Amino acid sequence: ALTIGIVGLPNVGKSTMFNALTRAEILAANYPFATIEPNVGVVPLPDSRLKVLADIFSSEKVLPATVSFVDIAGIVKGASEGEGLGNKFLANIREADAICQVTRVFNDPDVVHVDGKVDPASDIETIATELILADLQTIENQLPRLEKELRAKKIEASFIDEVKAAQKVLEEGKTLFAGAGEAKLDLEALKPLQLMTTKPFIYVFNMDEEGLANDELKQELTNMVAPAEAVFLDAQFEADLVELDEDEAAEMLHEAGYAESGLEKLARVGYSTLGLQSYLTAGPKETRAWTIRQGATAPEAAGVIHTDFQRGFIKAEVINFDDLVELGSVAAAKSAGKARMEGKDYVMRDGDVVEFRFNV
Ligand code: GDP
Repeated sequence: ALTIGIVGLPNVGKSTMFNALTRAEILAANYPFATIEPNVGVVPLPDSRLKVLADIFSSEKVLPATVSFVDIAGIVKGASEGEGLGNKFLANIREADAICQVTRVFNDPDVVHVDGKVDPASDIETIATELILADLQTIENQLPRLEKELRAKKIEASFIDEVKAAQKVLEEGKTLFAGAGEAKLDLEALKPLQLMTTKPFIYVFNMDEEGLANDELKQELTNMVAPAEAVFLDAQFEADLVELDEDEAAEMLHEAGYAESGLEKLARVGYSTLGLQSYLTAGPKETRAWTIRQGATAPEAAGVIHTDFQRGFIKAEVINFDDLVELGSVAAAKSAGKARMEGKDYVMRDGDVVEFRFNV
């Protein structure tokens, strides 16, 4: 499964947030998580469609899609002293598919800031700089080999050009993710180098209540990190929230004036940042959201349930979620001509309610 690596300077609220994420996972008790690893938080993706379908089908169980977060500990402790990042840390980041930096915005004289003052822009730069330097090092190490391969005609000159264009962006102090648009970089082409700053970034701003109510500040931070996503939450509030039962949590959210929890928002942003979407299956046994990448075809979607479904794929019977809800049953959707038979080239859409036909 694709994962999001959580990083951040010490004392910004990473552990507080991560513990809330893992607690949310444990609370989602009806999900058959294979193993619960201490540094992995598998968070259910909120999806209001599931309950609606479960009611229509009288499903016994509801299984949401999930998003996986990995706590990349050990971090930048030495970075500010010029020690750079540990190898283990870098290896963990390389394995993640997106990077989520928790950044401190909250003010609390009792919680020491590593650099002496609360300054989100500087925190973001500290970590970005370390990752940029590591990527530059990778490119410098690889270029001689690439030049050799070019002479042996094992690679195209255009690939080296792409790598050099990436090097230039990094030398300007930009992450490849942030600089790709302007420099017209093909991040996909750079994949073989396993660079870190090509990964999509998400910034979590850990704020107190006052900060969360400050739209001007939030807009400023949003602009600062674009094109990366910004998520605003209060880690302490989130940690308290996951200790409550569903009704109490809903009330606490309502009282605070929030439509959803920060972790829910983070799960949604993470899911789309990873390029994922869900399709749905429903029956008396379970209603379930299945995770596929955006752009996946019907046979690929079937393969997520079982490889045999993909191999023996014949057709997908697809009903749009809204049509199904409006008509009230599969039978009614069928007689209204809203159930489509889709073949192997069909590109799945988010919220398709699907039944696959296959040979075994
Ligand atoms: P980490 O080092 O990034 O993992 O940070 P922790 O999660 O351990 O938090 C460091 C300290 O900040 C702890 O004492 C937390 O209780 C406190 N803290 C975390 N989030 C918040 C917050 O949103 N507001 C305030 N006031 N304190 C927080």
